[in-house]
Amino acid sequence: RQRVATRAVDTLCPYCGVGCAVTYVADVDHNRIVHAIGRDGAANAGRLCVKGRYGHDYASHPQRLTRPLIRLQNAYPKGQLSPMEQRPGKPGGPVEHDAVLPHFREASWDEALQVVADRLLGIRESHGSDALAGFGSAKGSNEEAYLFQKLVRAVLGTNNVDHCTRLCHASSVAALLESMGSAAVTNVVRDVARADVAILTGCNPTENHPVAATFIKDAAAAGTRLIVINSRRPQIADYAALYLPIRPGTDVALYNAMLHVIIRDDLLDHAFIRERTEGFEAVAEAVREVTPAAAERICGVPAADIEQAARMLGEANAAMFFWGMGISQHTRGTDNARCLISLAMVTGNVGRPGTGLHPLRGQNNVQGASDAGLIPMVYPDYQRVDDPAVQERFERDWGVPLSPRPGLTVTEIISAARDGDVRGMYILGENPFISDPDVNKVREGLANLDFLVVQDIFLTETAEFADVILPASSFMEKAGSYTNTDRRVQLGAPVLQPPGEARQDWELICEIAQRMGYPMAYDSVADVFDEFAACTESYASLSHAALGLRGRWYPCSNPETSDGEPIVFGDAFPRGPAMLVATRFTPADEQPDGDFPLVLSTGRVLEHWHTGTMTRRSAALDTLAPDASVELNPTDARKLGISDGQQVRVTSRRGTITLMAELSEAVLPGTVFIPMHFREACANLLTNPAVDPWGKIPGFKFCAVRVEAA
Ligand code: SF4
Repeated sequence: RQRVATRAVDTLCPYCGVGCAVTYVADVDHNRIVHAIGRDGAANAGRLCVKGRYGHDYASHPQRLTRPLIRLQNAYPKGQLSPMEQRPGKPGGPVEHDAVLPHFREASWDEALQVVADRLLGIRESHGSDALAGFGSAKGSNEEAYLFQKLVRAVLGTNNVDHCTRLCHASSVAALLESMGSAAVTNVVRDVARADVAILTGCNPTENHPVAATFIKDAAAAGTRLIVINSRRPQIADYAALYLPIRPGTDVALYNAMLHVIIRDDLLDHAFIRERTEGFEAVAEAVREVTPAAAERICGVPAADIEQAARMLGEANAAMFFWGMGISQHTRGTDNARCLISLAMVTGNVGRPGTGLHPLRGQNNVQGASDAGLIPMVYPDYQRVDDPAVQERFERDWGVPLSPRPGLTVTEIISAARDGDVRGMYILGENPFISDPDVNKVREGLANLDFLVVQDIFLTETAEFADVILPASSFMEKAGSYTNTDRRVQLGAPVLQPPGEARQDWELICEIAQRMGYPMAYDSVADVFDEFAACTESYASLSHAALGLRGRWYPCSNPETSDGEPIVFGDAFPRGPAMLVATRFTPADEQPDGDFPLVLSTGRVLEHWHTGTMTRRSAALDTLAPDASVELNPTDARKLGISDGQQVRVTSRRGTITLMAELSEAVLPGTVFIPMHFREACANLLTNPAVDPWGKIPGFKFCAVRVEAA
């Protein structure tokens, strides 16, 4: 047998927010990963899920972009290539490679980067800075996120910079910042082992945070009682002491009824309320009439079960709250999080072991990208752009005047592009033509841009709108730091060489800045990290050297002697007393009717990741989950005359897709579920672009549809 030269590199999994530590073993001669081994990281203790173990071969896929591309003069009109409904097959299939590529020509780096700089400068000069915008990526490192928002703010001159946190936990962040003055989790996942009760609401950790789920299940086996609340029964409900199947979009009614019982039966932590919160009276007044019986009529959960859940929480010595996109991706997502904050605070369940608020972060670096300032209203560390003192400090540090106007969010930028107010965009590592709601509207926005540069590792669906495409480095090819859902800052390391002429993302950001006349130069990503850390409190004590192989939780007073803080806010919240905010149930933005009688919720499946750019190019993951399907309750299927495996059409007020029916008792009668990963059955052709008024997050978890035989 021929010997293969291998090398083992300690790094991280590139997928979810759990942030598992992994060793990849690479075949050096063929520049590809051979296999993965779980490392003893703080978040995973050697465990990996199927994505971490087998989802690495995308990096060596033959469709990787290897040279800069420039759109030809006579290319197809943007957005006119083909309707999303008519796109067969997987990413990288005929639409991109047979239909898109011939409309681009290869270019040198010098030419491509100069075109980018010139076109962005031209739009800035002709239409002003706010005619430009950037989407960064939660898959990039902290350093890339910091540099990208710095480029948009200091060079393009606008705060129109956002990323997929807007589609993920923006509502949770809005509520946590409002209440505590910090959006970070208070307790790490593995602290669940010390909880008497854990509430898991609107989350499906077995599929979305698989290794975290194993620790929660371990805790359940050892005596932690789980209360699982969801409208689509997650597998972890098998471990629950109490499962509450709730009608979609009615969470506020349920949570307020639990608050009602806790107040009525005096299960309150009076000292905590008195010493550490404000606003309790308004919350008590808001829930006075929300009895379990009244809530049952709205949310469908039996009143007796609401009583039991409230008593389990109120009587627990330590209770922990986990939530996910099932409650954050709603037009009332911020209210949902406000309720959970109130439930935790009035029972004194913050700041101690086995307690706390933990919105489970989706992407591997959505926490870090947010910390680094990829948000239109705030600089790094959530410092507001409209605070004159903050503005002055960043103007001094960055050496240019900065805009005091909060920028536009992801969905607002797309709307502004449709209206002609945003004319030029730089999209780094995001794929809004699949990931954003109502993608036909996204098509109109992207097609209306005067100039779009896309920097990515594959020819994504979004790249077909680009004027210039820059081939980037994948996670497997770069160094940088990433902050997981636990606030653990860890280092990723390069395992492979970038293919062809593909380059490091951070270098490309710097080079575009320099070509636009702004000095942006660093010797290494470690230097970028130091500049980022210096303008924050949270990361101030950290450096690449201090992080080492195991990383640190922030805050960390002294990385020489401390692993950082797994639990925060034991004594005080950053804003002083925590603000409790009264909420009232408000129905979802659109409702079912005779034409659209069912409620659609979208989400992820275990084997795939977001728009499928990576996982659908991974042989093992694609083999395990090759096709899209719509989960339909057997009761609804019988009424509609639909059988398991049949092709069906799903239609909303915005579009139609065709895919396979999968009969499942997991979804409640009257509801259906479609994964978001499959562009040939693009769930976001159907979804509603209406957003939560505070977090500006779209309501992906609720739109009215009908299902019929295809
Ligand atoms: Fe990767 Fe998340 Fe799976 Fe861990 S749980 S291996 S971080 S996808």
